[in-house]
Parts: sequence; C-alpha cells; structure tokens
Amino acid sequence: MEKTIAIVGAGLGGLTLARVFQAHGVATTIYESETSATTRAQGGLLDIHEETGQVALRAAGLYDDFRTLVRPGEDAKRVVDRHGTILFDRPADPGSARPEVDRGELRRLLIDSLTPETIRWGHKLASIRHRPEGGCDLTFANGSAARADIVIGADGAWSTVRPLLTPATPRYSGTCFIEIALAPGDPNHRASVAAIGSGTLIAAAPGKGITVHRYANGLVRGYVVLNKPEGWMRSIDFGDPSAGLRQVCDEFDGWSPLLTAFVTASDAKPLLRPIYALPVGLRWDRTPGVTLVGDAAHLMSPFSGEGANLAMYDGADLASELVEQPDIEVALAAYEARLFPRSSEVADRSAQNLEIFYGPDAPQSVVTLFDNP
Ligand SMILES: Cc1cc2nc3c(=O)[nH]c(=O)nc-3n(C[C@H](O)[C@H](O)[C@H](O)COP(=O)(O)OP(=O)(O)OC[C@H]3O[C@@H](n4cnc5c(N)ncnc54)[C@H](O)[C@@H]3O)c2cc1C
Repeated sequence: MEKTIAIVGAGLGGLTLARVFQAHGVATTIYESETSATTRAQGGLLDIHEETGQVALRAAGLYDDFRTLVRPGEDAKRVVDRHGTILFDRPADPGSARPEVDRGELRRLLIDSLTPETIRWGHKLASIRHRPEGGCDLTFANGSAARADIVIGADGAWSTVRPLLTPATPRYSGTCFIEIALAPGDPNHRASVAAIGSGTLIAAAPGKGITVHRYANGLVRGYVVLNKPEGWMRSIDFGDPSAGLRQVCDEFDGWSPLLTAFVTASDAKPLLRPIYALPVGLRWDRTPGVTLVGDAAHLMSPFSGEGANLAMYDGADLASELVEQPDIEVALAAYEARLFPRSSEVADRSAQNLEIFYGPDAPQSVVTLFDNP
C-alpha cells in the first residue's frame, strides 16, 4: 500500500492493528503519548476470548506466543455473598476457551513483534485536522508534526481523534472502582487469601462489591466497586491512604472481616477509577481517511470482559480489510459496517451486566449469569 498510515495510541488495539499490517508487509507508524513501553504499569489479568481476542492474535501470527503467556489455573471463579458464603465455585479449566494472561505481558508481546521504530513514544496527539487536498495533519504536544493519508484513532476512552467523527463523549456510568492489593505472604491475611480460591473471587451485593484475583505468586489484586454519584468520589480523601480506605470500608458495614481485610489492608496506592462509557450503539457518518478502533470507538463498562478483546479484534479486522481492499473509503465503510453492530451488541450486554453484578438482585443474579454464560 502506497498510503501513509498513522495509528494514534499503542494500546492493545493499536498494536494489533500495526502488527497485522506489518504481517502483510504494510508499514505504519504508531504515535503514543507515553514515553516508553514501561512508563505505566499494565498489570491486571485479561481473559482472551476464542471468538474475538484469539482470532486477532491468530491474524497477527502471535497465537502460539500468546499460549506461552497463559496462566493455568487462574481462570477459576468464585462468587460469595457479603458473609463470605460460597454461592458459586467454578474450578480452573486447563482447556478454557477464555484463558487468562497478564495484560502487560500481552502488550509486551505485541510491542516486541513490531519492527523497530514503528512506535514513536512521547508523541501525544494534541490536534488533528483534515487537509483540503486529503489526509490529515497531526500535531503533537512535543512540538512535532506529521501528515498521513489514513489516520486510525486507537487512543482509548478520551480519544483526540474521535471528535473528527462524532461529538459523542463518555459519560459516568454511576459505578466507580478503587484499586486494592495485598503483597504475597502476609501471615495476617492468610485466611482472606485462602478464601479467594485459585483465581478470582467476586463478592457482590446491591450497589457494591469486592473483586480480587490471586496470582500464582500469591499477590492479590482487585477492586472495590461502588455505585456512587460523582459527588461522593470528591468526598473521599486519599491524601492519607489508610484513612481514605477506612472511609471506603465504611460502605461495607456488616460484611465479613475476611472480605473487608482486602480493603483495609490494601497496600496499593488508592486510586478512584470512575467507569465511563460511550453511548450504546454509537455510530458516525463515514469521514474520509479516518476511523477508530477499541475504546475510542466503543468505550464500555468492563462487565462483559470484552473491551480489550474487541480492541484487538477491531485492529485485526481493520488492517485485514485495508490490505485486501484497494479503495480506502470502501474498506473503511466495510469495516465500520461490521464494527457498529458488534460493538453495540457487546456494549448493551456490558451495560446489562453492570446491573446484574451490583443491581438489586445481587449476588444471586451474578450466580445466574455464571451458571448461564
Ligand atoms: C477496571 C477495568 C477492567 C477491565 N477488564 C477487562 C477484561 O477483563 N477484559 C477485557 O477484554 N477488557 C477489560 N477492560 C477494558 C480494556 O482495558 C479496554 O477496553 C482496552 O484496554 C482498550 O484498548 P485500546 O487499545 O482501545 O485502548 P487503551 O488500552 O486505552 O490504549 C490507548 C492508548 O492510546 C494512548 N493515547 C491516549 N491518548 C493519546 C494521544 N492523545 N496521543 C497519543 N497516544 C494517546 C494511551 O496512552 C494508550 O497507550 C477493563 C477495563 C477496566 C477499566
């Protein structure tokens, strides 16, 4: 392909896109705001789905390498009520269609698969505009500039490319996460850690929950989840982390101490993560030379576990289409004709799952969901 292709954002979506292009001999440049691959911790597990993420990794020629990252045993799921009573307990499945991998390791695999210099680190897109003669001019916060025939926004929730296509912006979902973690081997919390089982523990109730994952090395990481108005978040002061965590823990009055220990004893830097989502069913009119993949196109709550999977799938789908179809506008239209319905369907399910996890029928509704996947 003779055209210049700029990808904005080196998340899982942008990286998969670039990798599939390169697998077909098409050069691209990724502009990424972070200054290096290690600027931000990328921890957390992702289960990679057979129908989406794994399809993308096959298209990228990385499926066998991905299998080496799979964490056996960590896909076990346990659901408990506020007292810690086990309501659902699914053991790990060595043949799982949704194996778990560490997000950072997967991202590293994709980065290392690209030819050197593909990623321009430290290039935060500041503005983008169409050129009258076609293509776009991009300017970066570091003062540099670039020009491209095709621009793909893979720049996540707060995409700078998206306004070229749609005025839609993410809205607060009414749910916020607070990161929690316990270091491996702390004897004071052995019973809490044992209560997790070998994978993920979900303690849910109407409007709140605690979800933690136990890694093979004993590290525990997870989230407190609270349905709260935005004003409540401003009232939490993590200036003194333990006082802030105690304030969060007050929301779990009457819960088993085995569960609340994950909050009060957390040694993670407490951080509020409000969950935002774009409108379900978002679409835009075809705009020459520009499109979006991943969260930039369809940010949704994480309750279908599909955001990263879809981002990779979008990337592989778009690159394959552009490689096969010489007319760029025909290719972009064909990609978007598939993107809109598939993301709409998953975003709708995600929004419903948010209600299932922390709505009035939790935790029984969570058990029903796991029983009927
Ligand atoms: C708490 C939580 C749990 C989740 N769990 C799961 C899960 O289990 N499974 C799952 O599939 N998904 C999960 N998700 C969703 C998943 O994290 C996202 O959907 C996925 O990361 C989207 O990938 P992306 O490449 O589109 O965007 P991102 O991963 O956000 O990457 C965007 C990239 O663009 C860069 N960037 C941003 N702005 C600019 C700019 N102006 N210029 C240049 N670069 C820029 C960013 O630095 C970043 O590197 C979860 C999300 C959350 C919040």
